[in-house]
This record gives sequence, C-alpha cells and structure tokens, in this order.
Amino acid sequence: MTETEHRERLAQFGQILYARGLAPGSSGNLSVRLEDRWLLTPTNSCLGRIDPARIAALDWRGARLSGDPPSKESFLHLAVYQERPSAHAVVHLHSTCAVAVSCLLDVDPADVLPALTPYYVMRVGSLPLVPYYRPGDRALADAVRLLMRHHSAVLLANHGPVVAGSSLETAVYAAEEIEETARLHLLLRGSKVRYLTEEQIAELREVQPRS
Ligand SMILES: [Zn+2]
Repeated sequence: MTETEHRERLAQFGQILYARGLAPGSSGNLSVRLEDRWLLTPTNSCLGRIDPARIAALDWRGARLSGDPPSKESFLHLAVYQERPSAHAVVHLHSTCAVAVSCLLDVDPADVLPALTPYYVMRVGSLPLVPYYRPGDRALADAVRLLMRHHSAVLLANHGPVVAGSSLETAVYAAEEIEETARLHLLLRGSKVRYLTEEQIAELREVQPRS
C-alpha cells in the first residue's frame, strides 16, 4: 500500500469511528507505521473530517517531517510502536463506555473487562488498566510501554483505550469491540451474569492468535 493509500484509509476509518459516536469532538487519534516513518492524525482535528494530505508524518524520534502538527498524544503511539514490533497501527479513543469503565473503582486493574463474548476474547483478550497521569505527562508513556509489552490493548484510567493492531482495520475493530464490551458490562452491572469459563477462553485463544 502506498503512503497516499494509508492516508486515505486513516481518513476513512476516522470517519467511521466518528459516525459511530466513538470520537466525540476533537477526541481520538489514529496512526499507522510505514517503513521509515509513521503517520498520525493532526492535533485538534475532528476524526470525522480528516484531510488525508494534512495528516502528520513523523520520524522514529517523534519529530514532524510533514503535515499538520500531530496529536499531542503522539508519545503514546510512539511508545506502542517501540514496544511492539508487530504493531502496524494504533487507535486511541475517548469512547464513552470504555471511559466510563476506566472511571470505576471496583475493577481488576490486571483485566478491567470480563470475558462476556467469544469475539471480545478473540479480538482483545485482556485489558489492563494504566494508572491515571495528567495529560501530557511522559510518565504515562512509560506506564503504557510497560503494559503494552505483553498486551495489544490497555485502558488509561479516567481517559480511554489505546489499541495496537497488525493493521489499521484490526486495531479499529478491536477498539470497537472494547467499546461494545464496556457497554455490555455496564448494562449487566447488578445482574447475575454467565461469563465464559477458563476452558472456553483457553479454547478461543488456541484458535485465534491475537496481533
Ligand atoms: Zn486521549
């Protein structure tokens, strides 16, 4: 795929996430890894109306090579690419239900969402919570780095999910799966729930390796 095609796909998936209500206002940012550079949606931009030509190109130190100034959360994306050689795209959202779960006190920080459906287990698996840091605090990147070594997705406390994928499509679908599972989890709070068993989860992990 050419850089122009990657730019167009970033804009298309931005539109999809915006249309589905997963990127309110100017929140959320998407990136893809190319050979010698990476592309990131601009700062203060609405994901629903990204101009492909103005998407920022960055080097591997995070310096801008071309395009509009990148999202201020670029350091999160860079940390993921440095920790996960298999990551070719990163999606970060402030999607409502995932953020709601990230604010709950009674979650397991090692894995904040229960195994409700096989699709969640196959596309996400586990979702650890990254402790809260002030926006822009570089300690947040270090905390993300630590957890993303072993997880393809994390949830930032009182903030939102960061999801890596082998492609932009994979990362977007996993981010949507997190949002929908968070919604189910909130809907089911207070109900008696049949969660998937350890055996059922193990069986799914055998058939569908995650990125
Ligand atoms: Zn954010």
